[in-house]
Amino acid sequence: MALSEFSIIERYFTPKGYQHSQVQLGVGDDCAILSMTENSEWVVTVDTMVEGVHFFPNTQPEFLAHKLVAVNLSDLSSMGARPVALTLALTLPAVDENWLQRFSERLFCLTDRFEVDLIGGDTTSGPLTLTLQALGLVPKGQALTRHRAKVGDFIYMTGFLGDAGLGLKVSQGFCVENSAPVLERFHCPEPRVAVGSMILPYANACIDISDGLLSDLGHVLQRSRVGANIFWEQIPLSPQVRRYIDETQDWTMPLSSGDDYELCFTVSPENQQNLERCLSEQSVRFTQIGVIDAGEGLFLTKAGVKESIAATGFKHFR
Ligand code: ADP
Ligand code: MG
Repeated sequence: MALSEFSIIERYFTPKGYQHSQVQLGVGDDCAILSMTENSEWVVTVDTMVEGVHFFPNTQPEFLAHKLVAVNLSDLSSMGARPVALTLALTLPAVDENWLQRFSERLFCLTDRFEVDLIGGDTTSGPLTLTLQALGLVPKGQALTRHRAKVGDFIYMTGFLGDAGLGLKVSQGFCVENSAPVLERFHCPEPRVAVGSMILPYANACIDISDGLLSDLGHVLQRSRVGANIFWEQIPLSPQVRRYIDETQDWTMPLSSGDDYELCFTVSPENQQNLERCLSEQSVRFTQIGVIDAGEGLFLTKAGVKESIAATGFKHFR
């Protein structure tokens, strides 16, 4: 006989304990209880993944759990918040214990690794839909936002650009040499949790790259009422993406493809040295890719020629 909703929760989604002192009550009552904190603020986000819309049918449950946690922690990180708690709303077409086992195992593997507590959720039947809410803490008044980029700021990003986009193409049948790393980047993005809270004292604005650099940096420019110039030759590209561009000439792919979940942030010239010193203690790669300027919109300088990227970049893709 299929498990009841209550047995599913008890067997697969009840943590053995909680890592954060703010969790007064977790899974098992009508609500969870979190205690208030005096010098910090709660930062809250939620993301939904629907089968057939956000992921292909029959995607491995490990990948689904990984991406669900990663995209939410990435949002917290882009605000400079430290993750504390998660709630999980699961809509399942059927009770598949193998799926539940694999999904929940990866989920708790990530909650352990990123020190965040699953404190509640909801379990219902229907088309496969995964919703995760994440709560984090930042020092009061210090959360990083999209609207404080300043003229003269340097623009940085973590990691490589376009690996996830290439991973998506590979998962759809495109052939590349040594495809495992880009598939991994597509299915199992790494949220830049430590970076987010580390750059908090120095960065002016921050966003995570979920929809593509052009689109996401575009949000920062719009909200901050500034422009930017990106230097093509400085964009960090993996060997796989470089080879892809050499073979296809599709050089805009890394700029406009999403799912990398790297952080893109701006820092004033005065804070640049401190920020770089801090980040170089981390194992994560970071690169300066451009500058904020007083103009309007986003420009790309490629081989010495500066062009509006809204006109050139998207044209290839739309
Ligand atoms: P109620 O009917 O009062 O909403 P539920 O029966 O839905 O309560 O849930 C019982 C407990 O299990 C609650 O603490 C709820 O937060 C938790 N819960 C339900 N589904 C999940 C899930 N998928 N993951 C984690 N906790 C869950
Ligand atoms: Mg309920």
